[in-house]
Amino acid sequence: MTKKLNNEKVIASKLLASEQRYRRLFETARDGILLLDSQTGEITDVNPFLIELLGYSKEEFLGKKLWEVGAFKNIKASKETFKALQDTGYVAYEDLPLETKDGRLIEVEFVSNAYMAGNERVMQCNIRDISIRKRIDAVDKSILFLEQEKLKTNFIADATHELRTPLAIIKGNVELALRNKDKNASQVETFKAINVEINHLAELLSDLTTLTSENKIAHQKIFKSKVSLLRLIENVTERCATLALTKNIKIEIKEIPDVSLAGDRIYLEKLFSNIISNAIFYGKEKGSIIINAKKDKKYIIITIKDNGIGIEKEDLPNIFNRFYRAENARDTKREGTGLGLAISKWIVESHDGNIEVSSVIKKGTTFTISLPLFL
Ligand code: ATP
Ligand code: MG
Repeated sequence: MTKKLNNEKVIASKLLASEQRYRRLFETARDGILLLDSQTGEITDVNPFLIELLGYSKEEFLGKKLWEVGAFKNIKASKETFKALQDTGYVAYEDLPLETKDGRLIEVEFVSNAYMAGNERVMQCNIRDISIRKRIDAVDKSILFLEQEKLKTNFIADATHELRTPLAIIKGNVELALRNKDKNASQVETFKAINVEINHLAELLSDLTTLTSENKIAHQKIFKSKVSLLRLIENVTERCATLALTKNIKIEIKEIPDVSLAGDRIYLEKLFSNIISNAIFYGKEKGSIIINAKKDKKYIIITIKDNGIGIEKEDLPNIFNRFYRAENARDTKREGTGLGLAISKWIVESHDGNIEVSSVIKKGTTFTISLPLFL
């Protein structure tokens, strides 16, 4: 009799030790744990980690069904999850959004098992916060992407640099040959044609240099000073006048406020000549280009409006990308490279400004550029 009693005591104390050990694991786990009643789906226990993770008190969990707790109510499948758990004994989600009590969304891994504990069927849900892991993954991906971009950019920068010298030598030789009196008319034409292509290539190399140097020495290259807006616009339109004449396009400068910009004159001239020459290239024969500007606190907002071929809606988001040319532009005689607007965007952003475009196909295009005033 006493032996039996002793045995029972030993078993009871072992059970207690085991219970305490598992309780401690439950209390200190760094994963959220929920225990459910296998019949009703009511929560019978929740560990402190999950309480902290989701911000609901223990009372807000206990006695509720899984889908009655705010955090899970967004999951339409909560009821079905429980049903699947009842049927198969196992449910897992790799990537589940849960809402904390204060409205934050967190990504979790959700694994639930059903098992027998003595005579009772227990359902246990383990919930692991994976938002940090996901954020690290996203950062890793962006770093990889940036490294690949940098490799590509450096490659283009190096190739551009290597191409400059031979091109300069070819140009020198062609110019020498053109100066040589001992040649017939057809040879002159040939050399002139070669020269046009060389100039085109030289311009392309210069554009590529501007674009690829942006990562390396971006802001060091911009030398800001006080630049008169009106003089800037007049300079550029004068330079574009001959080009405009070839298509009988009228460039109209509206009321431009007498203000100065804080910027690099050379780059700003490049910016406006890119936009105005586009307006001519993609403008209508005998069309018009209207340049307007208005002051707005610390910025000046300049619009350049043409009535040319316009840009299709689906092309609009892409036109500032390097080498992008819309289908209708490729149909024109103009042989562009698709770098002008990428450079323009870079120039505007290096000046802490903004450039936007709106366009109606076959009607015309308006570029809106805002740049900081010299204050
Ligand atoms: P380049 O590098 O010689 O300037 P490009 O003119 O083709 O070549 P971007 O200036 O970058 O390149 O312009 C990109 C594309 O945006 C053009 O090919 C054209 O499809 C479209 N685009 C730009 N400006 C206009 C405009 N004013 N009207 C219609 N389409 C335009
Ligand atoms: Mg262009």
